[in-house]
Amino acid sequence: MCLTNEEDIEKEKIKMTKAYPCSYCGDKYADTLDHVVPHSYNHVHNKRSYDKKLVIPCCKECNTILSNKLFFTIGERASHLSVKYTKKYKKLLSLPSWSEEELEEVKGSLKEKIIYDNKYKEHVKLKIENCCLVRDISPSIEDVWA
Ligand SMILES: [Zn+2]
Repeated sequence: MCLTNEEDIEKEKIKMTKAYPCSYCGDKYADTLDHVVPHSYNHVHNKRSYDKKLVIPCCKECNTILSNKLFFTIGERASHLSVKYTKKYKKLLSLPSWSEEELEEVKGSLKEKIIYDNKYKEHVKLKIENCCLVRDISPSIEDVWA
């Protein structure tokens, strides 16, 4: 299926992405479609065309990091993301883990900040783990949609 009407493309994108998690990091809702072969290197299809054989559901953060990077397999793209996320969240990932007893000694907004950071850190760790899993499996575009 290859759509060229912009309105149809947008409708189809919304329908496709809502039902799938990010194919790379596993975030619950994909809100974009990643062109596994970036637009800029794909001269067969025009820039606005949409073809399910060329795209996979992807979250905005992964899609932004990938932009038009020259990685032509899902595994290579996931590998790039795992490296980028590890660098991007280096500071967050290096924060110490607090025990319940230690947390009891902290009050107010500092305690809230520590709890928030801990949850965010766990979320980022899961994203990276998922990217590594996808890197190792290196599925095809058809596998992702199956
Ligand atoms: Zn993602």
